[in-house]
Amino acid sequence: MTKWFDTNYHFIVPELGPSTKFSYASHKAVSEYKEAKLGIDTAPVLIGPVSYLLLSKPAKGVEKSFSLLSLLGSILPIYKEVVIELKAAGASWIQFDEPTLVKDLDAHELAAFASAYAELELALSGLNVLIETYFADIPAESYKTLTSLSGVTAYGFDLIRGAKTLDLIRSSFPSGKYLFAGVVDGRNIWADDLAASLSTLQSLEAVAGKDKLVVSTSCSLMHTAVDLVNEAKLDDEIKSWLAFAAQKVVEVNALAKALAGQKDEAYFAANVAALASRKSSPRVTNEEVQKVVAALKGSDHRRATNVSARLDAQQKKLNLAVLPTTTIGSFPQTMELRRVRREYKAKKISEEEYVSAIKEEISKVVKIQEELDIDVLVHGEPERNDMVEYFGEQLSGFAFTDNGWVQSYGSRCVKPPIIYGDVGRPNPMTVFWSKMAQSMTSRPMKGMLTGPATILNWSFVRNDQPRFETCYQIALAIKKEVEDLEAAGIQIDEAALREGLPLRKSEHAFYLDWAVHSFRITNCGVQDTTQIHTHMCYSNFNDIIHSIIDMDADVITIENSRSDEKLLSVFHEGVKYGAGIGPGVYDIHSPRIPTTEEIADRINKMLAVLDTNILWVNPDCGLKTRKYTEVKPALTNMVSATKLIRTQL
Ligand code: GLN
Ligand code: ZN
Repeated sequence: MTKWFDTNYHFIVPELGPSTKFSYASHKAVSEYKEAKLGIDTAPVLIGPVSYLLLSKPAKGVEKSFSLLSLLGSILPIYKEVVIELKAAGASWIQFDEPTLVKDLDAHELAAFASAYAELELALSGLNVLIETYFADIPAESYKTLTSLSGVTAYGFDLIRGAKTLDLIRSSFPSGKYLFAGVVDGRNIWADDLAASLSTLQSLEAVAGKDKLVVSTSCSLMHTAVDLVNEAKLDDEIKSWLAFAAQKVVEVNALAKALAGQKDEAYFAANVAALASRKSSPRVTNEEVQKVVAALKGSDHRRATNVSARLDAQQKKLNLAVLPTTTIGSFPQTMELRRVRREYKAKKISEEEYVSAIKEEISKVVKIQEELDIDVLVHGEPERNDMVEYFGEQLSGFAFTDNGWVQSYGSRCVKPPIIYGDVGRPNPMTVFWSKMAQSMTSRPMKGMLTGPATILNWSFVRNDQPRFETCYQIALAIKKEVEDLEAAGIQIDEAALREGLPLRKSEHAFYLDWAVHSFRITNCGVQDTTQIHTHMCYSNFNDIIHSIIDMDADVITIENSRSDEKLLSVFHEGVKYGAGIGPGVYDIHSPRIPTTEEIADRINKMLAVLDTNILWVNPDCGLKTRKYTEVKPALTNMVSATKLIRTQL
């Protein structure tokens, strides 16, 4: 599974090879079209053939020279069959999603679009054919290819993330074709600025022609929350600023009606009032935060001492064994634990009862780690249901929905917090629990925080200021927490740093610069003896290793077990840098218990490329989704393997 572009939706990546045979297996597109047709004539949506192939990957063992696009000739006949069946069922429109068109494509890849649609032209005749793109600006070259495709009658663009695409459209748009203008943001939960959209649409009427302009959302609505009516707890003021999927459909219709000369004046006036209230609300603006953030731009934030001197100072204080062992933070979240948190939230149990239950859990987790003889401990995160929500609930500027779920994969959903205002940290968030946990052991205990880029990338972010500004505000809030915490060690998780990478390479440097800067802001002020750990959940580091080094953490733990040695080679670069590195030694996503031998083998492989004095031993990620019956033996084996190797050094 991998993420669908920069959304949180996951898809199963097809694994293809030269001998892959395609056949028309599922008639879902047709049967769903027919089912819907009992009431409504819909436009069936298919992933376009070129995007399908470009988003696949070569199966294991397939020769390096194999090109995914070489399968175009064998997949197009299947597309033809589907199209012909849809036509026979009565479809008058068909939509092909070709979002890879917003990525950096080479000439060979672009040529595939031209030949694919030329090949499909005959099958498509008699249908209105829409090619939809979304999630970013479309490069000028790709725009040219797209708008000259044969057999296509309509083009769709994301005009929220594709502000430059608007210029391309204005400078040339093929005559007689439909323009699907994605003016209503499909990726966010904010009410549209209807007056602004209407004026964009009016200007586009001049380009495409009045009867060829179609009002649309910027992308599918599956990436936003479903319906604001389901929100009982959000207050009316904040609700007036929001539009979930159901409300966005109403916005699209209102815009289309207004274009056709039937403007619903009352609806538009209410929108103006809502936008004005959002702009002027004291809940949105915190002048103090604004001032500090303004002063911070352009300046650099780094710890004064370099990493090797810091590690020396930390070692003097912590006196850790070689190959120190640690975990990533969370311990199993039992039913009992979830019940305690739920009942406390519902005020069914008192604060004392809650604190004593969590305290008991922390003490259990501390004891287990001491018994296992782990070197650097964690408190287990029993008070948190989610690493972003926990912090968001204690920061100002965040709101939470009851039912703002967005599909992640299958029946799994996430419920992103809404960042609506300037972010502040009124009170310490983790200090109470961290201090309590440290008081239970003489071993070093890591304080556990979530980093600014991760909080940002897993939230619905305000659209009235640049993302980096919001990220800097979160960084300042976390910085305050770090300062109040100043513990033996502090881990600042940047699990989602990579997820925020823009789709276009030309924009990577800018994003990484402010995201990494935000991370450094959080901990640039700590003492040399405070060990700053960070953790990241992905193994694909090759292209961003310099940014990861630039985070200037003392110890970096990363997910690794599913990618193996490939990742380690990247860390040659890191070796020069000298920070501690803990590539996970076993996969926590599986209930399987790794053996001592297998972990020892892993550690040995790592030692072949990494210095003994920088290697840490830890699992891939947090343990919250596992059971104690899995975690205890797995960690036992992890520690045994480490001890075994220590004797061989
Ligand atoms: N500290 C977090 C945990 O252990 C990190 C989770 C993550 O990386 N996604 O649960
Ligand atoms: Zn992780």
